[in-house]
Amino acid sequence: MAGSQEPANAGSRIVTPQGETYLVSARLVAHDDPDGEGAVVWNALRGRPILVPRETARALRGEGPAEIPPQALHELVAKGHLARSVGDEKAGVDERVARYVDEIRGGSKVAYLRLIVADDCNFACTYCIHDRACPARDGTRPRRMSFETARRAVDLFLEFLRSSGRTAGTICFDGGEPLLARDVVTRTIDYARQAERPDVGLELILATNGVLLDERTAAWLGERKVVIGMSLDGIGGVNDLVRRTAGGKGTFASIVGKIDLLERIGHPLTGLSATIARETVGVFGRELIDFARSRGMKWLRFDPDILDMRGVDATRMAERLLEGWRLGTASGIDVIGFWTRPATNLLATGENKEFLGFCLAARGETVAIDPRGEIVPCPHSRVRIGHLDDLEGGLGPIFSGEGRYERYVLENTVGRIPACRGCEIEGFCAGGCAAAREIRGVTGEEGAEPTLCEIYRQATRRLVAERLRGKAAV
Ligand code: SF4
Ligand code: SF4
Repeated sequence: MAGSQEPANAGSRIVTPQGETYLVSARLVAHDDPDGEGAVVWNALRGRPILVPRETARALRGEGPAEIPPQALHELVAKGHLARSVGDEKAGVDERVARYVDEIRGGSKVAYLRLIVADDCNFACTYCIHDRACPARDGTRPRRMSFETARRAVDLFLEFLRSSGRTAGTICFDGGEPLLARDVVTRTIDYARQAERPDVGLELILATNGVLLDERTAAWLGERKVVIGMSLDGIGGVNDLVRRTAGGKGTFASIVGKIDLLERIGHPLTGLSATIARETVGVFGRELIDFARSRGMKWLRFDPDILDMRGVDATRMAERLLEGWRLGTASGIDVIGFWTRPATNLLATGENKEFLGFCLAARGETVAIDPRGEIVPCPHSRVRIGHLDDLEGGLGPIFSGEGRYERYVLENTVGRIPACRGCEIEGFCAGGCAAAREIRGVTGEEGAEPTLCEIYRQATRRLVAERLRGKAAV
């Protein structure tokens, strides 16, 4: 099981030199800060992270005398890590989840729609999740969305936003490679820009590999304020090891050519996404951060491949992710990724914020429409939660209480995923990418990829400690 990480002393008693007896929380996590002098402590379900002296962490782990300085003892008690009597750790989480599911009922948080306008792609990246997730390639469903389906999706989405009092929403054109259906993309963008009204504004995003962008289309998109999202997996041959055309050729030169084009026409990228695949673990380096900085980018997203990190040294990987995070942050670049989310969620509990699921889909903040008009939680999921043809007047009915959508959120939340029980970041990772787990389930593997889990856990310890040391914000 990927999740078993409970510390040896969790749930036991400790007696201080003053003779006071405390129960150590059954889900307490206590790790020495790998980059500092102290240790970081949190509750695997409820969070509330704090820094304590290393001797205190040793005592909490049952590895040393229970001599806990008064300040640390005070904080540990205040955060519920030490208590006089046994509390029910799980009950609090169940209550929180029930509250959250009540909150998302009716789609109250949905303001993001993803249209899978083309299920196929002209690239064949070695790690592509869509290729693994999407049954399009078995020939059983159309690969391209029709304009009528896209227009209907926009209408229903806008009506839903209006009727639920929202003033803004986002539509992302996704794939596969959406520009393989360029005509549908451009017609739908025109339609959406004309259908939005001052009462509901739309942010439009095109998630593309960029290779089909020509000067005219790029300028056209710029005029309509369409945000362009692109990926580059490294510099030169690093990218070309994994990000290749369907014909097997490297794509670096072509992608950089399109980044140049976007700069030239005055519609530059604000950031880039990168996947660190098993093939590039040893060669992925700071060059991409330097590249992003040299282009004046504001954010950089890099992530280990969410489907397969087998054989990778998790400790070294977590170290390198942190190095990249520090380097980017020091250059004014916002470094993000799936791997930073558990830390972000965990730190939010320290500010008494409610549970946040792993991604927009698991949090009940988005839905996607596939080329057939099927409504799914995310472009890489096969969980069917409705169909456009069954709806009139807005997306609302698919979010009705106890329906498939609500069940999806509930099934992907903290405490509900068997493979994650006992994991030290269960309350803040909650299964990681649900689509990746879905795919692994289909191939007979349970839960998230174990090496990836270890990378997430180690990166979380480092990021949380870094933040608590007050060095920078996550
Ligand atoms: S560009 Fe995206 S959709 Fe296309 S093969 Fe690569 S990862 Fe998959
Ligand atoms: S998916 Fe996340 S919560 Fe589940 S075992 Fe892996 S790291 Fe832990």
